[in-house]
Amino acid sequence: MEYLVGWVILTAVGVIAAAAKNRNQLGWGLICFLFPLACLIVLVLPPLKPASAYKKCPQCAETILKEAKVCKHCGHSFDVAPKNLAEKPNDQQGTELPGGRHRDL
Ligand SMILES: [Zn+2]
Repeated sequence: MEYLVGWVILTAVGVIAAAAKNRNQLGWGLICFLFPLACLIVLVLPPLKPASAYKKCPQCAETILKEAKVCKHCGHSFDVAPKNLAEKPNDQQGTELPGGRHRDL
């Protein structure tokens, strides 16, 4: 009887630890049910980051961390500076004068 209680407790510990570490609760619950000492593995595993912590690279479609400024797979840069430059007017064309006339610099 004590074995059964210990088995249930170890399985519950595995499921709770998996939930706390953002891991598959059903999978780890099944593993801990079949091998109760596997709950020790869940306890030492590092927590997984939630899916919201990742983004998809528009260049190579690989999943990378949201904070990444450069894709680790293809080297695509996520700098915001080029976007700001694209919004600036092009000064090389000259300035528009009142009355629709155009003056070259
Ligand atoms: Zn990429």
